[in-house]
Amino acid sequence: MTETLRPRFQFTIAATDGKARTGTIAMRRGDIRTPAFMPVGTAATVKAMKPETVRATGADIILGNTYHLMLRPGAERVARLGGLHRFMNWQRPILTDSGGYQVMSLSDLRKLTEEGVEFRSHLDGSKHMLTPERSMEIQRLLGSDIVMAFDECPRADQPREVIEASMEMSMRWAQRSRDAFDAGGDHAAGAALFGIQQGALDEELRRRSADALTAIGFDGYAIGGLAVGEGQEAMFAALDFAPEQLPADRPRYLMGVGKPDDLVGAVERGVDMFDCVLPSRSGRNGQAFTWNGPINLRNARFAEDTGPLDDRCTCATCGTYTRAYLHHLVKSGEILGAMLMTEHNIAFYQQLMQAMRNAIAEGRFAAFAASFRATYGAGRKEPV
Ligand SMILES: [Zn+2]
Repeated sequence: MTETLRPRFQFTIAATDGKARTGTIAMRRGDIRTPAFMPVGTAATVKAMKPETVRATGADIILGNTYHLMLRPGAERVARLGGLHRFMNWQRPILTDSGGYQVMSLSDLRKLTEEGVEFRSHLDGSKHMLTPERSMEIQRLLGSDIVMAFDECPRADQPREVIEASMEMSMRWAQRSRDAFDAGGDHAAGAALFGIQQGALDEELRRRSADALTAIGFDGYAIGGLAVGEGQEAMFAALDFAPEQLPADRPRYLMGVGKPDDLVGAVERGVDMFDCVLPSRSGRNGQAFTWNGPINLRNARFAEDTGPLDDRCTCATCGTYTRAYLHHLVKSGEILGAMLMTEHNIAFYQQLMQAMRNAIAEGRFAAFAASFRATYGAGRKEPV
């Protein structure tokens, strides 16, 4: 199929099982199988992995960070170099975040107004301004396939009136994001725009946020403001109502989640897309995810363990290298340890998503989830 014949954005649900759904998002640069996990390529790289290796794990799409890329190397520079896909050698879809969340979590001296956020770079102290319009411009310069609306993500532990006022401003910013994206010419004709629901853990605020976003109209809808320290139980309680407040015929994306058991519980509640730094960051820290729960390769019990990280995993690391060797690499601070561990963790996440897609398609997701929890939860848990 030639590129011109591919749809801009077409979400097809092939099967549902309870609230869980599996399907495909067809885009110009390729198909995204859902439920999907997007590895995070913060600074135009999924740390410690070549893009071809990321693809070989089964990833259909990766995430890029607007905040990091606008500061270094700069969105205008990436555009002059032919866009983010060419710059980093990833030709499949890329979703970019809006920068809003990381401005709040990483930068210094923030000044938040109706116009946007003024901040100083955490790299060199230089002053910058992010607005809905500038965020859309940066994501267009990067050549993003799925653009995220610019929003504010307040801490969930603030008073309801603070959460409410923030959510209402984010909805005004969502309209400004929509207008700025639509003015983006050729880029807008080939890319998609997602809105972001806010409202913390409050069902009524999330309902109002969902209604405001639906009235504006987006290609997909993200659930923002979760996985910010509220804990799994509170997050699942919000996910018991939040996904269903959003249009059923559009992808639902839970931002910044999560651990393998978070993913299973969120898919069970109707979520279609995820991103998280956990598999790559943990890989660099010596933690491996397995079907029997996470293990820490620094532990001395692996020093002479000749088995693979996970005996069901089909990744290149598990097919070739022993726990004993990985223990040695991790203990020695060798770069290869970070590479091999990250490759396994990203591959494990993709295998988990594939297993969920198969279970939904075959109408046995509840049994899969129960079996996963029994096995994953029974594993020996070790501190990272
Ligand atoms: Zn593996």
